[in-house]
Amino acid sequence: NLRDAEPPSAWLNAAPTAAPRPHASHKGSFGDVAIVGGEGLAARGLGMTGAALLAASAALHGGAGRVLLSLLDDGQMTHIASQPELMLRRFERLELPALTVVCGCGGGDAVSAVLPAVLHAAPRAVLDADALNVIAADAALQAALRQRAPAGQATVLTPHPLEAARLLGSTSAQVQQGRLQAATQLAERFACTVVLKGSGSVIATPGQPPVINPTGNARLATAGTGDVLAGLIGAHLAAGQSAPQAAADAVYRHGWVADHWAAEQPFTAGALARHVGAFDTSPRADIRL
Ligand code: AMP
Ligand code: MG
Repeated sequence: NLRDAEPPSAWLNAAPTAAPRPHASHKGSFGDVAIVGGEGLAARGLGMTGAALLAASAALHGGAGRVLLSLLDDGQMTHIASQPELMLRRFERLELPALTVVCGCGGGDAVSAVLPAVLHAAPRAVLDADALNVIAADAALQAALRQRAPAGQATVLTPHPLEAARLLGSTSAQVQQGRLQAATQLAERFACTVVLKGSGSVIATPGQPPVINPTGNARLATAGTGDVLAGLIGAHLAAGQSAPQAAADAVYRHGWVADHWAAEQPFTAGALARHVGAFDTSPRADIRL
């Protein structure tokens, strides 16, 4: 069993629980998460608003104090009525010092335009989907990414095998043949924490042995679950965890909720995002799906 092969590293909690919320707390205690995504190619009838909304919903339900949503196509801003807790911001008005999650974007130029600012200014960032694809094709952005760790900025990359292959200049088959090595190589090359997604997600961080997450199942093999993960990692970072701990805990939690899903309940990424708050591995847990 692959999952038993790697003992957890010292930095990985065996069974993390949702962070305690002390009584004397307020929304400022749990941090801001800024979600950037949803580039619209409205003229071509394409758009990726859903990815940004899923990430934002997961950040919100994952415990973030405030979630700011910046859609890269202004035209889409008016369409968001589904989640009244979200605060909409134009990218230029985002306080980039907030933690930033760049998620599924739609592959146009808008994500390329915002990445230099994000890589330069965001003290903590989660980069997923088209943010990774754009970086894979741009040497200047790769250099900017490598500068973040020396500047004290924390970064989590969340590639699936094909995105990892683009970043490594290999193929997804090669990545899958050596998942631990691929994740480790990416972490070292870009000086980032890396979550190589898929069955048995690998979490790698420079200078540490990689670990394989023990939770999760094939229910997660459906559209949008990766966007949920990106937002959830954002919530854990906003709560003050280090990049490797936030990545490991959020991946564990994402899989745990899928493992405890009631069989009769339909599983969708949107429902997963709304239920990440039900995560509690303590024996006295009183919330059940
Ligand atoms: P993405 O590929 O970006 O849509 O992300 C899919 C998410 O679902 C990642 O968190 C994967 O690790 C997870 N996932 C997909 N398929 C499986 C599987 N068969 N077992 C466990 N997790 C999975
Ligand atoms: Mg994805």
